Order: sequence, then structure tokens, then C-alpha cells
Amino acid sequence: MAGILFLISAPSGSGKSTLVNQLRSLVDGLDFSISYTTRAPRGSEQDGREYHFISREQFVAMVERGDFLEHAEVFGNFYGTPRTSLTEAAQHGRDLLLDIDVQGAEQVRQKVPDAVSVFVLPPNPEVLEMRLRNRSRAEGAVTEDVIKRRLAKARTEIENYRQYRYILVNNILDKAVEELTAIVKCERLKRGAVENGSAKGDLQHLADIAERCRQGNVIGLEDVLRSFGLGAQMRLPNQQLFEHGGE
Ligand code: ADP
Ligand code: 5GP
Repeated sequence: MAGILFLISAPSGSGKSTLVNQLRSLVDGLDFSISYTTRAPRGSEQDGREYHFISREQFVAMVERGDFLEHAEVFGNFYGTPRTSLTEAAQHGRDLLLDIDVQGAEQVRQKVPDAVSVFVLPPNPEVLEMRLRNRSRAEGAVTEDVIKRRLAKARTEIENYRQYRYILVNNILDKAVEELTAIVKCERLKRGAVENGSAKGDLQHLADIAERCRQGNVIGLEDVLRSFGLGAQMRLPNQQLFEHGGE
């Protein structure tokens, strides 16, 4: 596609939808791909707004027709990105954002190697659990079993963080929104976009924020990974990489 394809993934409950909604209100020219799913709508979700909610039979028919750029099974439901999202964004000269899981992101990276990928992490498992519980209270529909499954899955999803170009730790919401916005704007600038009305100093500030979120530059990432029981990638003084502290 002509515009930039942004991929964003995160363990469920990390705050990805919250971040994406705020990003969309802050930047122009960015389309959001509405996925198809076989899961039931939650809370205030509306068909055609958050997702296109369809039956398994309809989903299988779409797979067979080759309608999806990628599709995957997540928590027992199917999710897929329609190819039409890309063609429409390209036709209108807009960038496109896909909110997809780690399996879907892997499929898209194979097909669109210059896609810009962002992985959102919660600061630790306790905060993730609290966010999942708060959200389920607000929606009134999620069971204890679902929360337990989502927490268990978080760790295996986080293991894939190295496949992403940028890493965002969503601790303080405003800071994470600022970082995600900086990533989008900087990737546009790299491809020659012009930020109207921005002074040189502002652009440098944006570039600095985005650079701090790049894979390998994120301060405090080791602590986050360790809190999920995962080994962190450490940089030795001689710049070799080594693994430490697994389980
Ligand atoms: P996801 O889309 O990753 O599943 P949501 O965006 O639905 O997650 O967020 C899960 C819950 O956490 C929501 O109740 C949301 O309001 C809350 N939340 C998101 N980001 C933050 C944050 N930085 N600080 C506190 N609460 C947050
Ligand atoms: P939820 O049901 O909580 O909205 O989403 C569950 C998971 O499915 C999230 O990780 C979300 O990113 C992912 N997801 C949503 N749409 C798609 C899609 O079109 N393809 C893939 N592979 N994953 C998706």
C-alpha cells in the first residue's frame, strides 16, 4: 500500500484500545481497520464500529474467498483483517492502523515487510489484572475464568515483543499516548511527510520520544519482563547481547 501500515499488539487489558482511541483523536490521515470476529459484542460495542460481528460460517466463507489479509484464532474466537481496509486506505492516501494479535502481526510482517509495529506492555501482572477486572466490572460480562485465561496468555504473548519495532509500556496513560503519537508522526516524517506549524525543536522532541521507544532503547523494560517471569535482553559493555534470568 502507498501509505504507512501500523500494527499494534498487546496482551488483552494492556490498554491498547484506549491508546488507539486517543491516538485517532490526535492525528489526522489515519484509518483504523475494522476486523471481522466471531466473538459476541461486549459492553457498548456496536457492529461495524469496533468490529464486524459475524458467525463462524460467515467467517469460514470469507477465509475461503480469500477476503482476509490475515486471520487468527484468539481465545477460541476467529478474528481477521479484511483486505478491503488496505485498498480503501490506499485509495484515499491514508495510513492504516491494525489492532491485531501476535499471530496476525507475524502474518502481516511477511506480506508487508515495511509495516511499522508497536507492542504495548502493561507495567506488571498486578496492574494488568486490575485493568482486566475494572473493565469486566464496567462491561458486566466477563467471568473469572476469562480473566485467568487472559492473564495466563499475556506471558506467552509478551514473549514475542522482540518482533516489534517499538515497545510502549502503558503505565501513565498520557505519557503512553504521547509516545504512540510521536511514533506515528516520526515514521511519517521519515517518509517525507511535513508537520505543518511545527518548529525544528518540536520535531527533535518528537524524534527523541520515538527513539526512546525503539526496540533496544526502552528504559525499565527488563523490570517489566522480569515481573512477568521472562528473561530480559541485556546489553554488555562490549555490546554483545546475552540472555539472562529465564524462569
Ligand atoms: P485492551 O484494548 O488492551 O484490551 P483497554 O484499552 O480496554 O485494553 O483497557 C483495559 C482497561 O484499562 C480499561 O478499563 C482502561 O480504561 C484501563 N486503562 C488503559 N490504560 C490505562 C492506564 N494507562 N492507566 C490506567 N488504566 C488504564
Ligand atoms: P478483543 O476480543 O479483546 O477485542 O481482542 C482479542 C485479541 O484479538 C486482541 O489481541 C486483538 O488485538 C486481536 N485482534 C483483533 N482483531 C484482530 C484481527 O483482525 N486479526 C488478528 N489476528 N487479531 C485481532
